[in-house]
Amino acid sequence: EAKTNSDQHISFYHSSIDKKVRKNIHLRHQLEGALQHKSMFLAYQPIVELDDRMVVGMEALLRLGAIAAPIATPSEFIPLAERTALILPIGRWVITQALEQLCQLRSQGSDVTMAINVSPLQLKETGLSDFFLSQAERSGVDPSWTVIEVTESILIEHPDLATSELRRLREAGVKVHLDDFGTGYSSMSWLARLPIDTIKVDRSFISDFLHDHRKAVVLEAMIRLSRDLGLGLIAEGIETVEQHAGLLAMGCVRGQGYLFGRPEPLTHSCAVPA
Ligand code: C2E
Ligand code: MG
Ligand code: MG
Ligand code: MG
Repeated sequence: EAKTNSDQHISFYHSSIDKKVRKNIHLRHQLEGALQHKSMFLAYQPIVELDDRMVVGMEALLRLGAIAAPIATPSEFIPLAERTALILPIGRWVITQALEQLCQLRSQGSDVTMAINVSPLQLKETGLSDFFLSQAERSGVDPSWTVIEVTESILIEHPDLATSELRRLREAGVKVHLDDFGTGYSSMSWLARLPIDTIKVDRSFISDFLHDHRKAVVLEAMIRLSRDLGLGLIAEGIETVEQHAGLLAMGCVRGQGYLFGRPEPLTHSCAVPA
């Protein structure tokens, strides 16, 4: 009797691990396949001025699969891509693709900037700045029209490496956004020392500040501090007119969120770079 129970337990345990492993292997194959056949695309989400909703920038967000049938969300495949180092070739594809799209937008008379997410592994692999700047040149894009989005973990875990790569990019005119600010170990005193231009306040603050007084106090402090330090600030994940109004009242100038536009592909045919 007892043995049967523990056998059952063990086989249940095994089958759930098994399921997870199989799912990861499947996802890994999908990632490799997507990379090989270039069945990935970028969705672009606007970054706006909050007072008049003018679009000042776009953020490129990676999607797997065909435009009509995406197969997984970034929160599922980006961590796996990082663990398997597939993020390196994928990340290069993202950079090339986003810069070509930017060139197209600019040639149509737009003056938006293009923000590209970069994972810690891409920054650790020295050569990101070389690759990025050579691709910009190849696409006829002025580096000052571009933005790299990084999270603070890389800046704290590998400060020298990250700093030297980011310095090179910034010297060439590329701006740096600090993504998901407020979620990690972020200490506000760090901000003054990091090689960044703008902080992006994490969505969790925006979704809660109207109901959570302490979040509102911290958010207001972030807005004031960034301004006093000469840094830009973008509020992420604005979904409602109440959030928009509340942020404007706090003196927040820029934002991003479903209220202003969801991430969407810009062209329906995906130009594959040679
Ligand atoms: P992120 O860079 O912080 O991007 C913002 C995420 O929030 C995006 O999710 C976007 O679709 C979502 N979002 C924007 N506005 C709203 C809103 O109003 N409400 C809600 N609920 N969500 C909103 P997505 O596209 O699923 O990407 C998730 C994360 O995956 C990104 O977070 C980024 O860290 C990573 N990622 C996406 N594309 C790339 C890429 O090309 N390279 C790398 N390394 N990471 C990427
Ligand atoms: Mg981002
Ligand atoms: Mg973000
Ligand atoms: Mg975020």
